[in-house]
Amino acid sequence: MKIGFVGLGNMGGGMALNLVKGGHEVVAFDLAEDALARACAGGCSAAANAGAAVAGAEAVVTMLPAGRHVAAVYRDQLFGAVPAGTLLIDCSTIDVATAKAVAADAEARSHAMVDAPVSGGIAAAAGGTLTFMVGGTSQAFARAEPILQAMGKAVIHAGEAGSGQAAKICNNMVLGATMIATCEALALARRLGLDPQRFYDIASKASGQSWSLTSYCPLPGVGPESPADRGYEGGFAAALMLKDLKLAIAAAHGADAAVPMGSAAESLYQAFANTGGGARDFSAIIGFLDGTLPTAP
Ligand code: NAD
Repeated sequence: MKIGFVGLGNMGGGMALNLVKGGHEVVAFDLAEDALARACAGGCSAAANAGAAVAGAEAVVTMLPAGRHVAAVYRDQLFGAVPAGTLLIDCSTIDVATAKAVAADAEARSHAMVDAPVSGGIAAAAGGTLTFMVGGTSQAFARAEPILQAMGKAVIHAGEAGSGQAAKICNNMVLGATMIATCEALALARRLGLDPQRFYDIASKASGQSWSLTSYCPLPGVGPESPADRGYEGGFAAALMLKDLKLAIAAAHGADAAVPMGSAAESLYQAFANTGGGARDFSAIIGFLDGTLPTAP
């Protein structure tokens, strides 16, 4: 299938190459020349601009930083350049309101559009093991599913347009809050004289168990290997967690939802970012909370 791909950064670069590996013809564009060059080295063809990347495409995939980029790229460059009926797939993590508005614009132009944000970081994007949460009609989902499968291990229909973004920010709000609760508990356990590994062994088999504890333990040397064992480098940057928490809190305000734990997590990740922690893995917040572990490399 001929696919136009716009946004070849940390995530999109790997995703585009997995489409190539899946046998698709990928015509790509990014404002950054080095990103475009990497994609071309992996088998994509370069386009001179976003409109040229999608001209004649049967499907379009975008992986851009935020809602304002997605709205501008679709409205100013893609809608006028794609053939009628083209399937549009936006994989960026953006606000629910913009996702819904852009999808409505697409529908008014007779294009099928889905929002398909991902869970999984740069390694999962490169390895083709992302999880996609998809918002859009059943027909659009059915068309998007085989394309997304070439880039991921799970493709799940969340509901109507915007539902993929809603699922993503709700999931990451749980993740942000449970990571902080896990960090607090591990730090307290240590201060109470408990061996952290012993506490891990107990909590991982008791009701304190969570993904943050047992798959991504924020203490080095405890549990399976995680970014904590690599000096909190790589993994999921605290700045990206903060971005997702801000999206969740903004959506909660619009929906009159009470999100006290999510709001606390947002404030704490903001404070952590303000001390220079934004580029570190999000589990590094344990050092900020406890004050006993290094937060700077
Ligand atoms: P990135 O900044 O590395 O990549 C974004 C790319 O978009 C850049 O290469 C940039 O040059 C390009 N771009 C921006 N405006 C453009 C335009 N008008 N036309 C063409 N290209 C344009 O970001 P990323 O880490 O790849 O993240 C992309 C999205 O995925 C974000 O919404 C992010 O929240 C989400 N996400 C990221 C991760 C992660 O671990 N990095 C994980 C899950 C979801």
